[in-house]
Formats: sequence, structure tokens, C-alpha cells
Amino acid sequence: MIEFKNVSKTYENGTHALNNVSIKINDGEFVFIVGSSGAGKSTFLKIIMREQVADSGSVIVNNYNLNKLKKKEIPKFRRTMGIVFQDFRLIPNMTVFDNVAFAMRVIGAKEKDIRKRVPYVLSLVGLTSKARQLPTQLSGGEQQRVALARALVNNAGIIIADEPTGNIDPEMSYEIVDLLNHINAGGTTVVMVTHEHELVRRFNHRVITINKGEVISDTAEKHRAEIKTQQEETTEVKPETKEEMIVAAKQEIKENVEKLREEVKSSEVIEKKNNSYYDQPNSDSDLEDFMRNYGINKDDIDYSSYLDDITENDGGDE
Ligand code: ADP
Repeated sequence: MIEFKNVSKTYENGTHALNNVSIKINDGEFVFIVGSSGAGKSTFLKIIMREQVADSGSVIVNNYNLNKLKKKEIPKFRRTMGIVFQDFRLIPNMTVFDNVAFAMRVIGAKEKDIRKRVPYVLSLVGLTSKARQLPTQLSGGEQQRVALARALVNNAGIIIADEPTGNIDPEMSYEIVDLLNHINAGGTTVVMVTHEHELVRRFNHRVITINKGEVISDTAEKHRAEIKTQQEETTEVKPETKEEMIVAAKQEIKENVEKLREEVKSSEVIEKKNNSYYDQPNSDSDLEDFMRNYGINKDDIDYSSYLDDITENDGGDE
């Protein structure tokens, strides 16, 4: 999680880069940070990475309180995130494999683990066949994929990407963001600064706009509501056969009855009667008993809306 509360930052020359910024990014989110040049986007990322320190306000990143972080704790803190830069920052005289392995070597990983993990991560970014090449032998898009593999190799919880598509052509840019999307689908938080409106438009993620050091818009609420609706839609299984429809109809009635029971339960008057209606109806006959107690006759239940569906599916043969 990343949480900025009333964060301000003024550089030594008097430039106000961030002014009273409050933002919360939850684990697993994908967030685009947009805004014109000089808006404060890089400063925002630098504070997250603890390359710059806020003058005021509080910053919490991956459970580290950055206001209180000691210098010697910084390397350990930075290992909780993978960072991708616009200019790739690969080591030119190292192969693709070694560039990625390097990130594991600096944290003291065992060679045995490196030999297992690096090929796996390279396969995730589609670069298995390029493992022995040098960065200069690769296209910009491929170099950025190496940088992504390096950011991923230590299982970081957050990927910070500072204009990762700034130096690559549009088709490759799409691929990079698509990869970030897959990484995010696996649970990794992604925070990406970009200038490219077309990319932002194609990927439906939360967008935070910074202007003159202030957050001027944040689509968080709209976005969360959309995700909730999508989840509800994907979990709903549409009944297809007549039997499935009857099961679904019964389930719906059961749910309605349960709702009704909750209402009854919360009503003091009826609660005092201490009757047995509160028992969960477990079988169909329980359910029917239960309904009878509320004056609902099972023969009165209207299955027609479901049956209409069947008739439609059958082309009106019924
Ligand atoms: P963006 O990433 O949106 O282009 P930055 O965060 O880099 O914006 O910059 C915000 C403002 O702070 C700009 O006016 C920029 O010139 C200024 N700035 C950035 N870094 C420094 C620095 N190290 N020293 C002084 N001013 C800086």
C-alpha cells in the first residue's frame, strides 16, 4: 500500500514540486499518473522510492513509514519494489541473463535459485531466446522487457514505472503496458507515470492527474465501482436448461425468503414470539414449510420469467 497524507515538497531552489498531496493506492491496484511536464509526477515517484524526502506530511509505502526510515534501512525498503525507467538503465556489457540475475546477486541470492528464477522471469516477458544477447543487440521494446524482468525477479510487491514507454515505438508501448497488466493481474501493484493518453485510454485503470504539484483528478471511486460491477457480472452464471432455471428460481426464492427472515429477525415484536422460523431452511420441504408460514404457496410462485427464457431459447416450440 502507498499512502500520502498532506505531502508537500519544495526543492532547494524554491520550486514547489508537490503541494499538500493526499493519495492512497491499495495493494493490487494499477494506477496511471498523468500530468504535463513539470507537474510533479517524478517527484511523486521519487518520494515513493525514498530518493527524495517530503518536507511535510506523512508517507507510508509497503508498511514502511518513510518519515522515520533510517538511511541504513533504505536498501531493504527498496527491495520491496521493482523500478522501471524510461531509459531502461541496463548494464551494457552484461548479457540479458546477467542483467536480470544481477538484481538477485545484489541481494545475495544463491546461484542455484538464480539459475531457476531468471529463465522463468525471462519467459514471462517473452525473452527466453535472447538470454545470451547484450542490450545493444535488442530493440527498445526488448530492452524495456529486460528491465521489466529485472524489476520482477525479486518478487516485488510494487512496480514503479517512470514513463516506461517514453523511448519505444507505439506498438511496443502497448506490449509493455500489456505485460504490466498481466503482472498486475497476478497481484502486483503497478504505478506508472505516462504522457501517452492513447495508452491510458486503451487500458481501463485508475488515473491520477497531477497539475502544478496538486492532484486535480483521481478516478479511484469510479474505477472501484466498475471493478465491483464486473466482478458481479462474471460470478453470475446464467441458467441454460429448464432444470437449471428451476434451481435458480428456487435459489432466488430462498434468498428472498432469507432476506425476509432477516427483516423479521430484526423486528423485536416477532422475535419475542420465539418461533422456529429462524431455522435455516435446508431442504425443499423445509423451504416450503417456511414459505407456508409466511402465507406463500409454492404453487403461486411464478416461474414464468424463467420459462419465457426457455421458450425463447427453444425458438417458441413449447
Ligand atoms: P514531472 O515529472 O511531472 O515533469 P517533476 O516532479 O520532475 O515533474 O518536477 C516538478 C517541478 O520541480 C518542476 O518545476 C521541476 O523543474 C522541479 N524540480 C524537479 N526536480 C528538481 C530538483 N532536483 N531541483 C530543483 N527543482 C526540481
